[in-house]
Amino acid sequence: MSDMSNGPTPWITDAALVQHAGDFPGHGRLAVRNPATGAMVAQVAMSDATGARDAVEAAHRAFAGWSVTLPQHRATILHRWHALIVEAKEDLARIMVAEQGKPISEARGEIDYAASFVQFYAEEALRPNIEGVTSHLADAEMELWREPVGVAALITPWNFPCAMITRKAAAALAAGCSVVIHPSAETPLSALALSVLAHRAGFPEGVMSTVIGDAATIVGEWTADARVRALSFTGSTEVGRLLYRQSADTVKRLVLELGGHAPFIVFPSADLDRAVSEAVKAKFATSGQDCLGANRFYIHRDVYDAFCEKFTRAVEALSMGVGEDDPDIGPLIHERAVAKQVEQVEDAVAKGAKLLTGGTVDEGLGPLFFRPTVLADVTDEAAIMSEENFGPVAPLTPFDTEEEVVARANATEYGLVAYVHSQDPRRIYRMTRALQFGMVAVNRTKVTGAPIPFGGVKQSGLGREGARQGLEAFTDIKYVCRDWG
Ligand code: NAD
Repeated sequence: MSDMSNGPTPWITDAALVQHAGDFPGHGRLAVRNPATGAMVAQVAMSDATGARDAVEAAHRAFAGWSVTLPQHRATILHRWHALIVEAKEDLARIMVAEQGKPISEARGEIDYAASFVQFYAEEALRPNIEGVTSHLADAEMELWREPVGVAALITPWNFPCAMITRKAAAALAAGCSVVIHPSAETPLSALALSVLAHRAGFPEGVMSTVIGDAATIVGEWTADARVRALSFTGSTEVGRLLYRQSADTVKRLVLELGGHAPFIVFPSADLDRAVSEAVKAKFATSGQDCLGANRFYIHRDVYDAFCEKFTRAVEALSMGVGEDDPDIGPLIHERAVAKQVEQVEDAVAKGAKLLTGGTVDEGLGPLFFRPTVLADVTDEAAIMSEENFGPVAPLTPFDTEEEVVARANATEYGLVAYVHSQDPRRIYRMTRALQFGMVAVNRTKVTGAPIPFGGVKQSGLGREGARQGLEAFTDIKYVCRDWG
């Protein structure tokens, strides 16, 4: 059902994966291409609406048993899954590079990150799931029981093809839910590989199924199916809105991790060299294809020229190439992503911006290699100041006052993360309060990790993933009132 060429040849090519891809009925094959070279990596069997329904049927049947297993049992299997992911780290990273294009060290980092959720929720499964209540009724005692909701549908994007799956699946499985997973068409192999490892870890038949195929067909079946009690989606705000509407009729629990439009704000008291190096990380990790990616840079006028110069120099020093060579930046995922970069750069320049570096495709490397780009003096009217860039274009603009920058930073439908650089504690406090974002990072870029509740406000989404809070969408509270009267 699957053949691979020009790609990695680790254990992913073995029969288990092939069999996995053909678990549910369907027809046709999905060609998985390497974005760096355009070469076909594999063809994966696609499921159709019947396959999507069969997966829910299997998950529904499996839920009856899985939901009542001892938490210790679920923890043991999750720990085994974690160990298998860690053991297969190099293979998983190479699969990811082949289908997603990111630099190999970023891919290895993502496998560590993905594995950390499995370990975290293996431990979280053992925490108390019953809470006492101070009774307000004579002769009655009360408890709140946390119970798994049922089948959970998990829909994930291509930019973090492993971590977005484990962040959802480990929480749902620890809670006692069974899951059906639909990964992005660009990165089905990472999802199938995780699924093979999950089966080897010992999750019972039907508890975790991965279904590849046409997104609207597969996910449409799931949103319409009343047996699917929770839906957790990571992807664009546009598709998130659609799934929100589609889930209304069956009143599902929802987690929506959607787009971001992060402001990166630098005040004069900031350590400028540090701000520059953090800005490079915040913009160019995953070639800019990160929902946490800094999308617009507001630099105080007192340090604006110095920042523009240092930042441009740092960006010009970035290497670009195929992921296996471990450059700083790899290719973009597809032609649409490149077209968006070209459009946003042209639009910003037409509206007054100056191109300091980049702005074009490196044809020598291939059509998906868009050079890291810096634009200065970008006006608020430029599309990139209000739309997600999701690529390697950094628009810089000066500001004069704190009040002004707060208003400009908050003037967006998104609210995922904001970055602030300053060494003035009062200013940091005021900014942290005023910024309307689910996460605020001060003088640093990396904020994510299994123990923190990740998520956005406004149209960046609903609910949180990671941490104890990540279990909430997968559990209901049963209030029990016992009268001994
Ligand atoms: P996308 O919305 O196009 O696709 C995400 C998933 O939805 C994929 O599995 C896709 O197959 C599925 N999908 C697409 N169309 C669908 C439809 N009509 N019905 C049902 N499912 C459908 O997003 P993408 O391009 O894969 O990823 C990039 C987006 O994801 C960006 O907007 C980014 O900000 C966001 N993102 C958010 C987070 C977060 O945690 N907030 C993390 C990573 C990415």
